[in-house]
Amino acid sequence: MPPYHVCCHTPGCGRPAAYKIAARWSDGVTDELKTYALSCEECLAEGFRASRAKQAACRLAPGETLEPPGIYELSRGQRDQQLVRRPELEERLAGAPTA
Ligand SMILES: [Zn+2]
Repeated sequence: MPPYHVCCHTPGCGRPAAYKIAARWSDGVTDELKTYALSCEECLAEGFRASRAKQAACRLAPGETLEPPGIYELSRGQRDQQLVRRPELEERLAGAPTA
């Protein structure tokens, strides 16, 4: 049985996604991981910056919280709760000067 595979969200890329860019959202009762993008290694910096910009522009209802998007390693068959976060990548990419 072939494993399902997910592609990078960048238009025209087509490589398999290696990372999920997602932010934890909560309305005070429930919380969930909101997916911003799936990205391959090459598109990660761009996808991450775009996701952070999107999150910063997001308007929230009273009581809602939305954390800045983080980078999670995408592993086949893993549930959101089991995804491994990569804070060192976030730090590096968030601090990288824009070309
Ligand atoms: Zn890509």
